[in-house]
Amino acid sequence: MGDISKVLRDNNFRFNKQFGQNFITDSNLLQAMVADAGVSEDDTVLEIGAGAGTLTRAIAEKAGKVYAFEIDRNLIPVLSETLKGLDDKVEVIFKDVMKVSDEELDGIIGKGSYKVVANLPYYITTPIIMRFLERENKPRSLSVMVQKEVAERLTSKADCGDYGVITLSIALEGKAKITREVPRYMFTPQPNVDSAVVRIDLDDTYAGVDKKAVKKLIKSAFSMRRKTLVNNLSSAMGIPKDKTESALSKLGMDTRIRGEALTVDDYVALNDALGTV
Ligand code: SAM
Repeated sequence: MGDISKVLRDNNFRFNKQFGQNFITDSNLLQAMVADAGVSEDDTVLEIGAGAGTLTRAIAEKAGKVYAFEIDRNLIPVLSETLKGLDDKVEVIFKDVMKVSDEELDGIIGKGSYKVVANLPYYITTPIIMRFLERENKPRSLSVMVQKEVAERLTSKADCGDYGVITLSIALEGKAKITREVPRYMFTPQPNVDSAVVRIDLDDTYAGVDKKAVKKLIKSAFSMRRKTLVNNLSSAMGIPKDKTESALSKLGMDTRIRGEALTVDDYVALNDALGTV
């Protein structure tokens, strides 16, 4: 771990498993993650979980400004060493990002455009991603390290095993892809699973759509995996079976179709069709 491990040792730092502390120190990987995220000098970047500041520093080398949240105050002395000389570019906020309100967050990072780049603490991966996809002041993109299984779920295609509500909720907001697979031995301490970096580029493909209604439809469609879409919408939302059947027929879809076979476009179209049949 080179210099970083010395800094951690000198400061008597103890890794806290509860905070999902698995640090990255390999400079090639850190630079590649920043390149994958498409960070450039005009960018304001929000990092969640600064850790020992290795990724923070790599981002700061390319970005205009970095705001990094960190929950663990034991990292204060570590970060003051590892981020030395970057005071004008980096601001570390020692707070639980999940307890920071949207207003407070905007007060810190401003209302302008920003990107999220992070090696996320695994225990709050999905809540963090969904928060940034659904909040009013959305980032332009999120480039986040997550467990490989989660990465596959976030980027899955219709009719694949791990396709589900989260995949479709992301697809409503932008395009997600895996930019890099990262084996477990790249982390300190080494976790029990491999990871991957997912990049989500937000767009306004569905800007005019009632996303709340479409998401309700999606959640209901997946409420019982083995049931058909018609049965799920009937039991979860009380939509009469013949109404869903008419809507599906109108869209040229099989009335025995299951929720996992529909793309996000299909759900948007189905939501419209249900309003007219
Ligand atoms: N960015 C560093 C790296 O890549 O080596 C650290 C990544 S580590 C997977 C996740 C970091 O997030 C840890 O330093 C942890 O203390 C911090 N963290 C965990 N929960 C947090 C929260 N709710 N708010 C802010 N930081 C958090």
